[in-house]
Amino acid sequence: AYSFAAGPARLPDAVLARAGEALFARGGDGAAAIERPFTGDAFRATLAHARERLAALLALPANYRILFMAGGAMQHFSLLPMNLLGASRRAAYADSGYWSRRAIDEGWKQAAVSVVATPPAGAPAAPDVSPGSGWDIPADAAYCHLTPNETADGVAWAALPDTGAVPLVADVTSCFLAAPLDVSRFGLLYAGAQKNIGPAGLSVVVVRDDLLERARPELPAPFSYAVQAAQDSCVTTPPTAAIQLAALVFDWIAERGGLPAMAAANAAKAARLYGFIDASGGFYTAPVRRDCRSPVNVRFHLADSVQDAVFAAEAERRGLFHLRGHPRVGGLRASLYNAMPMTGVDALVDFMADFMRRRG
Ligand code: PLP
Repeated sequence: AYSFAAGPARLPDAVLARAGEALFARGGDGAAAIERPFTGDAFRATLAHARERLAALLALPANYRILFMAGGAMQHFSLLPMNLLGASRRAAYADSGYWSRRAIDEGWKQAAVSVVATPPAGAPAAPDVSPGSGWDIPADAAYCHLTPNETADGVAWAALPDTGAVPLVADVTSCFLAAPLDVSRFGLLYAGAQKNIGPAGLSVVVVRDDLLERARPELPAPFSYAVQAAQDSCVTTPPTAAIQLAALVFDWIAERGGLPAMAAANAAKAARLYGFIDASGGFYTAPVRRDCRSPVNVRFHLADSVQDAVFAAEAERRGLFHLRGHPRVGGLRASLYNAMPMTGVDALVDFMADFMRRRG
């Protein structure tokens, strides 16, 4: 059976195989890894290993910090303005779909939000970033936020905008570690762990040093990126089990050849599935504009959308789970993050071909 869930998502087989022993086996100190104090040497070594592995995978420039924080991606919708507004009251946001709109809604609670880009008319797609496309970012904006991969809409940005002196901030929850990323283009990146990092309950922030100086002193310490950076993500007891699992995932990515290898495998899986959909003579449709199709959240529907639910129910009987689209978007969606093997995509395509033969 395969789960195509958008998140929490499948973890690599090898990580699940190692996790039992690594997390739950008691050692000579009478404690399993998940039972050890976060102040002790053993957990601190794991934390350092996770941080260093992740930095190496990202080829992280020296002037960036990695934070491991409790909570989901959405909490950063609020922590961002708290930490980054500084003396400004204004923040710029690009609207590219469901999750960026959720970030905008939270941004408004603390900032004067300027929505500087919106999706084009027609098929779902990311905003235009070509020179002259009209991004009018106010000079006093503390940051410009965007969502490079819209998990619900199945939309990925083909290119990033030039935001000049205004730091670019990105919610990379569903594309982090799926392909190489030029961190130096961003002031801050954040991601919920439950796609390509590990289990839910952990989030990762990658932040440029100079932005840490903006944190307001009245910020609660666990919510302050600056305090978390100064205290190695241990202001409050961190989600130790999730961090240990994430370390195993980072090791797995490194062993498989790092982010270029992830990108190649993800591109091959996406090509197989979109290729089949496009060749189905309209029985299946991928609605997103071709140059903005997400390689990891493949959105599709049947010509007769009433059949989508029948398709998803029959797929489950064939061992293919969690293919329903995001509730606000509808249709169908197959999420193909790093841990989804090509055999899973093959099984899905075989089922889709069979369903089409029977119903087409
Ligand atoms: N941002 C993006 C792009 C997401 O895909 C999700 C969840 O799927 C979220 C934010 C919300 O994440 P969380 O539930 O961890 O707050």
